[in-house]
Amino acid sequence: NKQVILKDYVNGFPKESNFDFKTNIVEFKVPGGSNSVLVKNLYLSCDPYMRMRMGKPDPSTAALAQAYAPGQPIFGYGVSRVIESGHPDYKKGDLLWGIVGWEEYSVITPMTHMHFKIQHTDVPLSYYAGLLGMPGMTAYAGFYEVCSPKKGETVYVSAASGAVGQLVGQLAKMMGCYVVGSAGSKEKVDLLKTKFGFDDAFNYKEEPDLSAALKRCFPEGIDIYFENVGGKMLDAVILNMRPHGRIAACGMISQYNLKNPEGIYGLSLITYKRIRIQGFNCFDYFDKYSEFLEFVVPYIREGKITYVEDVADGIESAPAALVGLFHGKNVGKQLVVVSPS
Ligand code: NDP
Repeated sequence: NKQVILKDYVNGFPKESNFDFKTNIVEFKVPGGSNSVLVKNLYLSCDPYMRMRMGKPDPSTAALAQAYAPGQPIFGYGVSRVIESGHPDYKKGDLLWGIVGWEEYSVITPMTHMHFKIQHTDVPLSYYAGLLGMPGMTAYAGFYEVCSPKKGETVYVSAASGAVGQLVGQLAKMMGCYVVGSAGSKEKVDLLKTKFGFDDAFNYKEEPDLSAALKRCFPEGIDIYFENVGGKMLDAVILNMRPHGRIAACGMISQYNLKNPEGIYGLSLITYKRIRIQGFNCFDYFDKYSEFLEFVVPYIREGKITYVEDVADGIESAPAALVGLFHGKNVGKQLVVVSPS
């Protein structure tokens, strides 16, 4: 059983050399009544939040994200098939998504809000690592529950071609909003406009003045900002928000590898402009997961919601795929195929 392990705690940007592989022997037997299942991992999801687990354990954030232990396999969201079951709700052959080890096989104890049985199999299975998994749920909850969107409003999404952003943009278009996204390459910007239906998009790396770029795209200002990157981008956005605007602070990937977070010059404007900034965690909305599936699966079947994935091949490619997120190497949702079936 090949496993990806963390070599030592990460400082600054994670590198492939922070990870290593080891193998262990898996017992192909799970005792009945143990509530555990042995699963074969098919897809692993590479997610920016995993960076928070790579640093030295910090007592102030320990409750939010359990740190990975050096020398031990890391873990994250994945899509898996049950091989042996000692759990009354799972039988051999069932498919599930949720937290598993970064390894070929895992023994897990399925838990509510951590593991979900896969019922709809007429859509690509890999979607449960992205569109129909944690990132999709994040887009859905973040947009509808946190942004309080209304038809005709202006919406800006950063890291817009990624796992979360590409769905947020499509949901906002379906609601009748004017939607602009930013991303870090021409290829990604083209995807936003041609594949996901954004009204406009720009490459933030080619804009010397982010505030001016936003002013160009939103001459009347921004009602809703779906925040994925933080830092200078957030500063520029606050300057361009409209009164009573809402900012859903989903994530701030530009800050995850910095020792000192970048300052926010325009924060005083949130009072004057009556802006609501709300952080949220998708985890708090997992009780809406069935509602999300009922909403989104028909749109996928009809081809009205689309999703782009960046698939790395084999568990050996997992560390490179994961660290690539922090350099924008992924085009669409980054996942790793461990085994196609
Ligand atoms: P993505 O698929 O968008 O991948 C990350 C992308 O971030 C990269 O491709 C890159 O795109 C961009 N990026 C990387 N470094 C920087 C930087 N320094 N400045 C600006 N952009 C950068 O990731 P996800 O869609 O999975 O996640 C997006 C955000 O949502 C993250 O902040 C993540 O932490 C957060 N999140 C929050 C959740 C919650 O519950 N609150 C749950 C899931 C995700 P580009 O080429 O465009 O720069």
